[in-house]
Amino acid sequence: MSTPNEQRGRLAQLWKDAAALELDAALVSALPNVRYLTGFTGSNGLLLVTERQATLFTDPRYTLQARTESAGSGVKVVIAKKSLEEALTPRLAKLKRIGFENNRLSYRAWEHLQRNLPLSASLKPLGNVLEQQRMVKSPTEIAAIRESVNINSQAFAAALTRFRPGMTETDFAAEIEYQMRLLGADKPAFDTIVAFKKNSALPHARPGNARIDGNGLLLIDMGTFRGGYASDMTRCVHLGKPGAKTRDLYRAVLEAQLAGVNTVAPGVSAGDVDVATRRVLRKHGLAKFFVHSTGHGLGLEIHEAPRLGRADETKLQAGMAITIEPGAYIDGVGGVRIEDTVLTTPTGVEILTPTAKELVFL
Ligand code: ZN
Ligand code: ZN
Repeated sequence: MSTPNEQRGRLAQLWKDAAALELDAALVSALPNVRYLTGFTGSNGLLLVTERQATLFTDPRYTLQARTESAGSGVKVVIAKKSLEEALTPRLAKLKRIGFENNRLSYRAWEHLQRNLPLSASLKPLGNVLEQQRMVKSPTEIAAIRESVNINSQAFAAALTRFRPGMTETDFAAEIEYQMRLLGADKPAFDTIVAFKKNSALPHARPGNARIDGNGLLLIDMGTFRGGYASDMTRCVHLGKPGAKTRDLYRAVLEAQLAGVNTVAPGVSAGDVDVATRRVLRKHGLAKFFVHSTGHGLGLEIHEAPRLGRADETKLQAGMAITIEPGAYIDGVGGVRIEDTVLTTPTGVEILTPTAKELVFL
C-alpha cells in the first residue's frame, strides 16, 4: 500500500541515514522494513542497499511475486538457491562498513555474515533508522490505516449483533475474526482478546472456555490488518446492569482516555500523553492499577514507535498514527481499557476509530 515514488523516497532516505553513519551499505532483514521499502510481502527476504543499487534477495517460491511487488521500487531481485545469506555474501566483496539491523537480525544470521565477510569489511549497527522513518505515515499509509480502522469497527458492530449469552470467550473471538475477514481484512492484527468478568483484569487475557453469561464486564481488544496496515481498538460492554463500582471504574478510565487523546498534538512528547492519562487515574485512586503504557504507534506492525510511555521523549509529528489505551485492572473485580487509534494532525488530533465509547449494555 504505497506508491513507487514513496518507495524510492524511502530508499533514498535510508541511504542518507546510512551515509550519515558513514556506512557504505545497509542490510535490511526485518520483513516489515523490507516491505516498507520495496512492497515485497513474502516471508523470506533480505535487502542490501548501497549508493548505486538496492538488491532484494529471496527464494524460488517468490520469484514471480518478488518481481511483481517490488517492480515500482526499482530494486534488483536475486533468487537465492540456498540461504539468503549465502547469496548475499559474494556481493559484499567491495564493501567496508555494512550497517545491519542490530535490533532485528537473528544471531544465527549475524554469525553467518560475520564468518563470511571479506577481511576488509565489518558489520556496524544501523540502529532504528527505519523505525524512525516509519513513524510518520504518508497519505497513502494514512488512507490504509483509516480503512483498517473502519473495517475493525464494522466487524465489532457485526459481531455484537450475533452475540448470544452463553457463548464462550473463544466462540465470540472467532465470531469477531470471522466478521473481520468477511469485511475485507487481510487477517487479525493480533490474537483477539475477549475477556469476561475477572478475566478482564488480565491486560493480555487469552480467550478461553468461560461462558459469557449472567452479569459482568466484557472486554474486547481487536485489530485488523488491511492492505498490510494495522488498526487497534478496545471496548468494554456490560452484560446486565453494572454496579456503581463498575460504572465509576469505567467513567474514570474514559476520562483518562479523553485526557490522553486531547493531549495529542505536534510537538508534544509521547511521554506527556502518558503523563496526562496517568494523572487522571491517580486522581481517582487508580494509578496503581494502570500497569502498561498509554499506547503505541502502529502501521505495518501492530506495535511500532513511538511508545507512549513515561520515558519516551519522541516529539509527536503530524502523520503519526498511535493508540491511546489507558486501563485499570483490579484483581478479583475486573478491568476496563478503552482504546482508539488516532492520528496526529498539523493542528492536533483526529480520532480515527468511529465506535462510540459509552459503556454498552447487552
Ligand atoms: Zn488493542
Ligand atoms: Zn494497542
